[in-house]
Amino acid sequence: MPVKLPQFRSRREAGPEKLWTRCPSCSEQLFNKQLERSAHVCPSCGHHFRLPAMARLGMLLDEHTFEERDAGLSSVDPLGFVDQKPYPDRLAAAQVATGLRDAATWGFGKLEGQRVAILAMDFGFMGGSMGAVVGEKVARAAEGALDERVPLVVVSASGGARMQEGTLALMQLAKTMAALERLRAAGVAYISVMSDPTTGGVFASYAAMGDVNIAEPNALIGFAGARVGAGTIGQELPPGFQRSEFLFRHGFVDRVVHRTDLRAELGRLLRFLAPARLEAPRG
Ligand SMILES: [Zn+2]
Repeated sequence: MPVKLPQFRSRREAGPEKLWTRCPSCSEQLFNKQLERSAHVCPSCGHHFRLPAMARLGMLLDEHTFEERDAGLSSVDPLGFVDQKPYPDRLAAAQVATGLRDAATWGFGKLEGQRVAILAMDFGFMGGSMGAVVGEKVARAAEGALDERVPLVVVSASGGARMQEGTLALMQLAKTMAALERLRAAGVAYISVMSDPTTGGVFASYAAMGDVNIAEPNALIGFAGARVGAGTIGQELPPGFQRSEFLFRHGFVDRVVHRTDLRAELGRLLRFLAPARLEAPRG
């Protein structure tokens, strides 16, 4: 059920033409046109490639229904942060490479005819890291959903908080959670989709807090990396630890959904959740 994406230019289209991509999982050489038709899933082994935010929105939403909000939000450099190069240079390079202002894009759109507030993250923008702009957009998406009383859908792809914004990045965990709590209190549904990878501060805040938490197959999902985890408990970790299927078996995600089924699955969930909405908690 690959959906055509006429309303967005993918990064590949914007850059120099590259015809083939090697699947990192089965090593098959894949024709890029074929990959696009299969929603960037390897037809041989089912490996889910990372998807740019705009392609994700195009895949999930009905054609020509996306109305972007807060497109102009851009990070400043509050700490004057310099590692191997200054943070503003990194930002500028990521902006040129992706055509985005930051690692999250949000707005309203229709998914199988149902209006939603939707946010998609882009791992290609500084590892999908969450600084003040990503946090602000997640909070505003939740507030937009609350204002209109339409469900919120967030698709995460992130390595965690953005180091270059230090404590200001960590503050986004509390801010996004507060906005989601207001949404929950009002009984408006929130569906979280975790794609590869969803880790660190994003996992530790809004990504794991959906009324329904969905994961794409074999996505890396967790807080700290496996090496840190193994070091902390002084034990070897079980195989597949922090992958979608393991987390599903242990009750941490509600569903593992193949990308080509994701739109239909979200459509079903929205029809189920949206009309009545979640019952507001009593007392
Ligand atoms: Zn493959």
